[in-house]
Amino acid sequence: MTAPHKHDKKGLMCNHVAKGKRPLRMVAHDADGVWQFMCGQDDHSRAKQARRICVACTFGKNLRSLTAGQVPAGHVAERDGSGAAWAVREMTAEELGQIGDAATAPVKGANAPRG
Ligand SMILES: [Zn+2]
Ligand SMILES: [Zn+2]
Repeated sequence: MTAPHKHDKKGLMCNHVAKGKRPLRMVAHDADGVWQFMCGQDDHSRAKQARRICVACTFGKNLRSLTAGQVPAGHVAERDGSGAAWAVREMTAEELGQIGDAATAPVKGANAPRG
């Protein structure tokens, strides 16, 4: 059960997980304290295809085998499927950078230089 709370700590959940199309396989806790609940596939932009959700409710409803205390800021919990065990690791420098970019950078235009 979820303890009574104010629903004031918001995080992001990708639409695949929010709509029940894919299992929740990745829980990221950004260095700046933002939580992200993702399907773990990289076929969408984290910033665009996500909705705001209450973190405490998500832990209470969607997660039975993981608690917020197991994932400190700057860490990611991942699993292979809905019944698999969670593995917590530190975010890579690249992941920390990606999340920051997704939140602030505009979508890259078609006229970006070719690499
Ligand atoms: Zn809530
Ligand atoms: Zn997704």
